[in-house]
Amino acid sequence: MMPDLDASLTLCTYCPKLCRHTCPVSNAEARETVIPGAKMATMRLARLGKLESDVESTASLYACTGCGACSEVCLHGVTPGRHLFTGRADAERTGHGHPALAGLPDRVRAHAEASARAAREVVPPHRFQPSAEVALLPGCDDPEATATTLTVCDRIGAEYVGVADVSLGCGGYPLLAGGFPDAFRLHAEALARQLQGYSRVVVPCPACVWAMRVEYPAHGVPLRPEVLHTSEFLAQFIERLPVAAAARPAAAAFYHDPCYLGRQLGIYDAPRRLLERAFPGGVREFSRTRGESECSGGGGVLPLTMPATADAITARRLEEVHEAGATEVITACATCKRRLTRDGVTARDLVDVLAEATRPA
Ligand code: SF4
Ligand code: SF4
Repeated sequence: MMPDLDASLTLCTYCPKLCRHTCPVSNAEARETVIPGAKMATMRLARLGKLESDVESTASLYACTGCGACSEVCLHGVTPGRHLFTGRADAERTGHGHPALAGLPDRVRAHAEASARAAREVVPPHRFQPSAEVALLPGCDDPEATATTLTVCDRIGAEYVGVADVSLGCGGYPLLAGGFPDAFRLHAEALARQLQGYSRVVVPCPACVWAMRVEYPAHGVPLRPEVLHTSEFLAQFIERLPVAAAARPAAAAFYHDPCYLGRQLGIYDAPRRLLERAFPGGVREFSRTRGESECSGGGGVLPLTMPATADAITARRLEEVHEAGATEVITACATCKRRLTRDGVTARDLVDVLAEATRPA
């Protein structure tokens, strides 16, 4: 059984820190104070009232992407990534939240509304349906992906898929990660009301799939539709995808497992099976892949709180791509796509690849 918060804080404080090698933040910073166990020990002291309560002493609570790599090796079943979000909520409540996150609820709401509006600029109006068996949730950061996913659906005989007629194009993950659980619950309630008319909702962002599946119920917010990641939904139609004829080039694209899709939701095979149809022989694997995959640096609102560290994490992930002489990464997350497109490397989303593979001759 998974230990509760208090037991987790004690376990992390006194265990021999066997997960220390896994943390992308402490690996990027080479600082003992930001290994998972040390961050949890800081949180324990703060909750016991034994820590000076100020922004500096709570700073390490923000040194986490929520990637789950530490939990993967923890023999006690502790989830520091999730607990540190609670530590951020404690800091926020006592007025010692991270300064870079000031006003985050308003910013997330504005971004979610802008994302929903942006989808309307690239998707024909008749595809927005107030109720449907299956609807896509417009994602943030990559409005074109909604149109591209619809194109793929049309080409594989799933023309019935619509787009959810919502005002919020985000499941609210950044609010939870930033330490704003009350704003997260309000966001979840608003989106859940808007999604009442759908049986299944297909979501492009792995972190929001996790938030909607796991954290909405944990926050007392029932959600009518079943929530699927895009790769899970499209994998049901795999037999309808054409098999690519050409052998993959020697320096083929690497597949990057998004942390929330892989470690948090256990979805490793669906994107690979889809990509195997597009790339005979499959995509290239990183040496650290699946459960051992390294973070792209985009989770846990780290790009807002520790941008230089987030960049160092991204650069570390791309080292292997450069060493292999490759220039392309494929992933299944808009945040990872944005993070990993740099330094001569282009990251593409799975749906971009599938749109190319299904393009009529
Ligand atoms: S997550 Fe597990 S291995 Fe890591 S410090 Fe905590 S108890 Fe120890
Ligand atoms: S969840 Fe990831 S970033 Fe956070 S402490 Fe664990 S390994 Fe480090």
